[in-house]
Amino acid sequence: MKVYFLGTGTSQGIPVIGSNHSVCLSTDLKDKRLRVSVWIQDKDFSVVIDCGPDFRQQMLTSKCTQLDAILFTHEHADHTSGLDDIRPFFFRQGNIPVFAHQRVLKNLEKRFDYIFLDENKYPGAPSVLKNEVVVNQNFQIKEKTIIPINAMHGSLQVFGYRIDDFAYLTDVKTIEESEIEKIKGVKVLVINALREEEHNTHFSLKEALDFIHLVQPKTAYLTHISHLLGFHEEVQQKLPENVYLAYDNLEIKIQ
Ligand SMILES: [Zn+2]
Repeated sequence: MKVYFLGTGTSQGIPVIGSNHSVCLSTDLKDKRLRVSVWIQDKDFSVVIDCGPDFRQQMLTSKCTQLDAILFTHEHADHTSGLDDIRPFFFRQGNIPVFAHQRVLKNLEKRFDYIFLDENKYPGAPSVLKNEVVVNQNFQIKEKTIIPINAMHGSLQVFGYRIDDFAYLTDVKTIEESEIEKIKGVKVLVINALREEEHNTHFSLKEALDFIHLVQPKTAYLTHISHLLGFHEEVQQKLPENVYLAYDNLEIKIQ
């Protein structure tokens, strides 16, 4: 299975528009981060987690040409606002399956009403197939079993997802022990780490490292990164041996 990091930045991306922060001015490509998303691919299985405002560019850069589903973590704009750009996939494949919490599906239906219309649809509008994700209910996409992982983003519920020996969680601040059990010992864990300073709704770097210590994956990658975390190269040097800062267009293989 292949995991391609489409974006690894927090909600504004890096660089932040108009910012003179040194990380935003960095010329290191690893310091340029689009909004957070991953593409998971294995033979004819191809899904993305989240579909933010950089989705179109991410699909072009990664050369993703087929989409079996979009799994949503939650409804925030940096994770959902690219939904209109599924159009090329829709034109080729038909309705695109989307998986999300019922609350998130309702939110998307309100914000993208023209995509969810059954009648009098504009011919150029895409369509989706709604699939509700429920806590403690695994589901199937092609040959893969997807295990939803329930967590909290401050007071907002979010889903992470485990697929085989890979687990992806973003925008997590708290998570119950019973949910951590579902991902213990995975080969690769991706988890959010915003910055060093604490934040109300996101793991800080220390909280992410503590979480990695609990889960004990073989390897962990940090994502949903703010420019305030610092330069990629400098932060990477401070991390434990099996922990890496993810960066845009990083591709990893999970055997
Ligand atoms: Zn986010």
